[in-house]
Amino acid sequence: MRILLTNDDGIYAPGLAALERALAKLGDVTVVAPATEQSGVGHSITFLSPLVVKEVFEGTRQRGWAVEGSPADCVKLGIFEFCPTRPALVVSGINGGLNAGINVLYSGTVAAAIEGAFFGITSIAVSLEFDEQAQFDKAARMALGVIEQVLARKGPAPQLFNLNIPTPALARPRPVKVVPMGVERYGEHFEKRSDPRGRNYYWATGDPPPRRGAQETDLTALEAGFVTLTPLDFDLTRHDVLDTMRQWSLTTGD
Ligand code: MN
Repeated sequence: MRILLTNDDGIYAPGLAALERALAKLGDVTVVAPATEQSGVGHSITFLSPLVVKEVFEGTRQRGWAVEGSPADCVKLGIFEFCPTRPALVVSGINGGLNAGINVLYSGTVAAAIEGAFFGITSIAVSLEFDEQAQFDKAARMALGVIEQVLARKGPAPQLFNLNIPTPALARPRPVKVVPMGVERYGEHFEKRSDPRGRNYYWATGDPPPRRGAQETDLTALEAGFVTLTPLDFDLTRHDVLDTMRQWSLTTGD
């Protein structure tokens, strides 16, 4: 099985290397990843400038391709140019930091998986809770186990998934929680500072999300220490209101 592996932390990130080693047990891995960190770029693409790509080596081993672009660019280029055959699976990660709740919509890691889904390829984003001493190898083995189970159970249709691993879950095996994405807005605050010339500037503080709520979501399950898996879709249409809105018989006026 051909696997396209990317991320948003950049091709030299330890999470990508760990996942590459683990996925080698599942298939032939092609690495196409951003040349520099692209966290938080969401689903941006490059079209006003050329996409410069460099082949990356580790000793004499060809490691992959480093793209001066976004995670979504990497998936497009990976599928069109660098995978010798069409991949059967796109994997994005392991991101250093969870991608849960509304952060899913800012995430470059998840955007890469969504891009894979645009091509009709089963895709999965993998994120590990941020830690200075993050155990990416352990998380990668865990992710591989979950991916194998998902592929065995999901049926033939392509599907899109978001997998998150909190640090406590690395300690011992526990059930994986299948949960929806939490959708409450949470307060990113800005610290106001002054530069040496007295001009004000702002820096987002990255506050932790609210992980308590009535309904179980990725945020609440992660807070309780569970690995979470969320099936995603990129169709943003409110299908439930389409029929009602068609009856409005809207016109452009006269
Ligand atoms: Mn990242």
